[in-house]
Amino acid sequence: MQQKNTLTVLKFGGTSVGSPERIKRIALEITRRSALGEDLVVVVSAMGKSTDLLVQLAHDITPTPCKKEMDLLLSTGEQVSIALLSMAIKDLGFSSVALTGAQAGIKTDALHSKARIEEIDTSRILKHLSKKHIVVVAGFQGISAEGDITTLGRGGSDTTAVSLAAILKCPVEIFTDVDGVYTTDPRVYAKAKKLKEISYDEMLELASLGASIMETRAIEIGHKYSVPMTIALNTFDVEGTIVKELDDTMEKKVVTGMTLTDNCLMVSIAMIPYTSKNVSQLFATIAKEHIIVDMISQTAPYNNTVNLSFTTYKEDRLALEEILRAFKQEHNSIDYYLDDQLVKLSVVGIGMVSQSGVASRLFSLLSDHDIKFYQVTTSEISISYTIHSSDKMKAIQTIADDFEL
Ligand code: ADP
Ligand code: ASP
Ligand code: MG
Repeated sequence: MQQKNTLTVLKFGGTSVGSPERIKRIALEITRRSALGEDLVVVVSAMGKSTDLLVQLAHDITPTPCKKEMDLLLSTGEQVSIALLSMAIKDLGFSSVALTGAQAGIKTDALHSKARIEEIDTSRILKHLSKKHIVVVAGFQGISAEGDITTLGRGGSDTTAVSLAAILKCPVEIFTDVDGVYTTDPRVYAKAKKLKEISYDEMLELASLGASIMETRAIEIGHKYSVPMTIALNTFDVEGTIVKELDDTMEKKVVTGMTLTDNCLMVSIAMIPYTSKNVSQLFATIAKEHIIVDMISQTAPYNNTVNLSFTTYKEDRLALEEILRAFKQEHNSIDYYLDDQLVKLSVVGIGMVSQSGVASRLFSLLSDHDIKFYQVTTSEISISYTIHSSDKMKAIQTIADDFEL
């Protein structure tokens, strides 16, 4: 057998460590690679849906759990996984060490529930690697300067893995429950095709437009530090998708993939008296409520009024209705409505930078198939539409057929 002597970060998501059998299964693969001489840092998520169960548990106590205690609670999920995986590795006769985020030197700011990694002190990880230990690190967590446990936001184990790979200057392999990145979520559209490779830019655009395959921040870090990344299935038997810098060897399709966001609430406000102060005050109030807005568009002033629309998430409906009622009390002329029967469909492709006509091709496709759209927004490499949820599958099928996705 060929001897390897390289360092790699491996990351296993919730499904991959979802049961004792699965933990034993990945321990086998990890030790197989270690036996070939590879140095390994293994980042794991909490088992299965255990983070969701912990969230539920907190809400069984109080509807408004304190974020600091919430981090303390949620970080226990990953602590279970590292302990069990390290036991399974040792059971196979290999040396291993399980480290929490804090023990692994992951230092964050104090923004509980969405902390940012500020620094990683790798001395402890390097010490264990030099002793040929397999280092198992808890994903999704770190420690603040005050010594409190923090978490990095849902899905944050990807960020832990990619950040470790960036600082250790090595590749990262993300193992999950699908065998790579598909043109669209294969659980939504079974005929989606697997991509052999994808550029960081397209991967980032897909993730930020809703593809849950990998956390957005992790891709940003991967791109910034040029971390070689692959995404593959946790059974290790099929080749995954390589995420890398765009180069001449890559197939440059106009459209690489598409994403769908179900949880969409469209807000439309008509006849807002035209001063930019009105619009800025409205968004300031919305931001104060921590409501995330997307797809903002405003018409040019006409008869001294403007129309505005944006999307947000369905769970913000009540808070938004209250804000809009107050806004109408101030500006009697306005009219508004909210629609939560919509989905956001986004089409992504690096080829859009150099090829014109994608928007017009999409407009024709939607109109030929009688699919109404309500809003359109674009970025350099994507176009997003809100459409009625009943048209969702028809739109996916139509676009996939036409662009061979
Ligand atoms: P993990 O727990 O391993 O982090 P996630 O559930 O976060 O896994 O991500 C994997 C899921 O991402 C898949 O089960 C799949 O449904 C979803 N997904 C969304 N978009 C895509 C896509 N374009 N290609 C592949 N999977 C996708
Ligand atoms: N366990 C955390 C979550 O469910 C982090 C992760 O899985 O990446 O969000
Ligand atoms: Mg994930």
